[in-house]
Amino acid sequence: VIILCYHAASERWPSVGAVTPEALDRQLRYLLQRGYRPRTLSDALNDSAGQKTVVVTFDDAFCSVLTQALAVLEALAVPGTLFVPTDFAAEGAPMTWSMLGKWVGTEHESELRCMSWEEIRRLAAAGWEVGSHTCSHPNLTAIDGEVALGELRRSREACEAALQRPCRSLAYPFGAHNTDVVELAEKAGYELAVTLGNRLLGPLSSDDLLRLPRDGVYRSTSWPHFLLATSSPLRRIRALRPYRGLAARLFPERITPGVQ
Ligand SMILES: [Zn+2]
Repeated sequence: VIILCYHAASERWPSVGAVTPEALDRQLRYLLQRGYRPRTLSDALNDSAGQKTVVVTFDDAFCSVLTQALAVLEALAVPGTLFVPTDFAAEGAPMTWSMLGKWVGTEHESELRCMSWEEIRRLAAAGWEVGSHTCSHPNLTAIDGEVALGELRRSREACEAALQRPCRSLAYPFGAHNTDVVELAEKAGYELAVTLGNRLLGPLSSDDLLRLPRDGVYRSTSWPHFLLATSSPLRRIRALRPYRGLAARLFPERITPGVQ
């Protein structure tokens, strides 16, 4: 299973997280032509045994996912999976953490708006899975455990209340997680949780459903990089147990600037 992580989609916004709709189309079309079946995260993990499967995820619920990415995915019959920071969805507020703050006051400020629940329901109606990205998008490894548990629980409840269906999945903000955070995610009722690596040679394993690795795709991701990251022979090597142990030491996961 290849799990891709996108953020926003825009022709004009030169943010690292905003791929162009053309690049998104080319990347997904390529995987479909190679025989990958597109599934939501929950569907892929339910029934992907022996099948080449691609899961297309979007973090942060940027408004351009609805206005730009949805049309690309619908034309290719690809269902997306969206991870929502629920406080921002409730308020329709701009998302300004980390590197995003630099766009405030520029012509691109409107790109920072989080989709409203009404807009998110349109994606759900189009067959998308909607998971949690916590309430306020904190680094869960850097805050008090009780506070982190509250973020995880309340955001799951907010998703379920807004969409009237179970919320099974979580994306850790910034991909940041450790053993304590993974335990809290389980305690908060999540069945699946995704991390975020941008490591071409990083280890791959889907043994632990609360640490599912994703490949981040950015505006700066070149076509050769995308080909290598999704290369079947390379991914088979990255999933081998001896390689995983070595690679985890050689390429430790860390939060990189600009990754959200
Ligand atoms: Zn995020």
